[in-house]
Amino acid sequence: MTSHISGQRFAELHLDHVQRAFGDTVALKGMDLTIKGGEFVALLGPSGCGKSTALNCLAGLLPLTGGRITLDGKRIDDLPPEKRGFGMVFQNYALFPHMSVRRNIGFGLSMRKTPKAELKRRVDEAVRLVQLEEHQHKFPAQLSGGQQQRVAIARAIVLEPPLVLMDEPLSNLDAALRLEMRTEIRRLHQSLGLTTVYVTHDQEEALALADRLVVLRLGEVQQVGSPEEVYAHPVNQYVAGFMGYRNMIPVDVTSQEGEHATVHTDDGIKLVGVKREELTGQAVAAVRPEDFTVVSEVGENTLEAVVEIVEYHGREQAVEARLRNGSPLHIRTNSRLAPGDTIRLKVPVERVLVFS
Ligand code: ATP
Repeated sequence: MTSHISGQRFAELHLDHVQRAFGDTVALKGMDLTIKGGEFVALLGPSGCGKSTALNCLAGLLPLTGGRITLDGKRIDDLPPEKRGFGMVFQNYALFPHMSVRRNIGFGLSMRKTPKAELKRRVDEAVRLVQLEEHQHKFPAQLSGGQQQRVAIARAIVLEPPLVLMDEPLSNLDAALRLEMRTEIRRLHQSLGLTTVYVTHDQEEALALADRLVVLRLGEVQQVGSPEEVYAHPVNQYVAGFMGYRNMIPVDVTSQEGEHATVHTDDGIKLVGVKREELTGQAVAAVRPEDFTVVSEVGENTLEAVVEIVEYHGREQAVEARLRNGSPLHIRTNSRLAPGDTIRLKVPVERVLVFS
């Protein structure tokens, strides 16, 4: 699809020790980040980690209490939102209820005194890009949630912003629509050459959409990397937990050799895994539920557990089991199991991450 709408490209947006405090609460603790033109960056973390604060600081809706933001070397953190000209898409859409779809989309252009013919052409195109041709004369209340979100996206991109900021834009949609809109957002980002910063608490959404993830915790950046890097090589236990390592088995460190560590549980089960941090004494062995295989033989890196709960998930089962020492274990498997079964589970050495 050809389009006249496109993002205005910059080379680099730089956050330099960006800090934001609310009284005694420091919501963002000196964030450093460089965003390149054309990138899709996701800010990821649980509620309260500071991701919306970071986005609002970028947008200009919140003044910084420390640090600076520069766009291609020019300081912008002292500019009001309208002077930055970034496009914004929020969770609650924030549409004008008394304006039609077309007028909502064209509002920013008319505020900028865009000539009538150009305004019409750009609104036409934005309407087409988000596939709202049939609904363009309706009012927001006459639209579904997904359609309203499309209006919000069209309103942001019609201004050809250098940066599009999205704050949990899909969280009010049902599961199927969320997947559809997710693909739509990525398609628009790519085809229009946008630069996008996207806030989400949903690990899967961030992995699917972004070129780079920024994982936040309590206002601090934990890890920045490609989806592959963050997924496969989480730097600490917190990021691992967020990336699907649901099992955090308490262990003691027996020995360490090169990149591997040998550990044991308090009832003597031995595991060998990849050492992700400097280790002393107590540690945790992190394992994803899908990395266990049900086996019949006792062998290396094998745990014995008793099945407690089995959930049917179509192709596989989600199983809650318990180790002999009482620790719970989450497993995903396509072996058919039943509550009360005693099972042996094997996990490859490379799939056990050991954190201090
Ligand atoms: P959520 O997904 O729930 O919006 P978040 O990761 O976006 O979470 P923020 O909204 O950025 O988190 O909040 C980060 C911290 O700053 C929280 O501890 C929050 O309570 C605090 N905070 C945010 N806004 C304000 C405010 N206006 N006044 C006081 N504290 C605030």
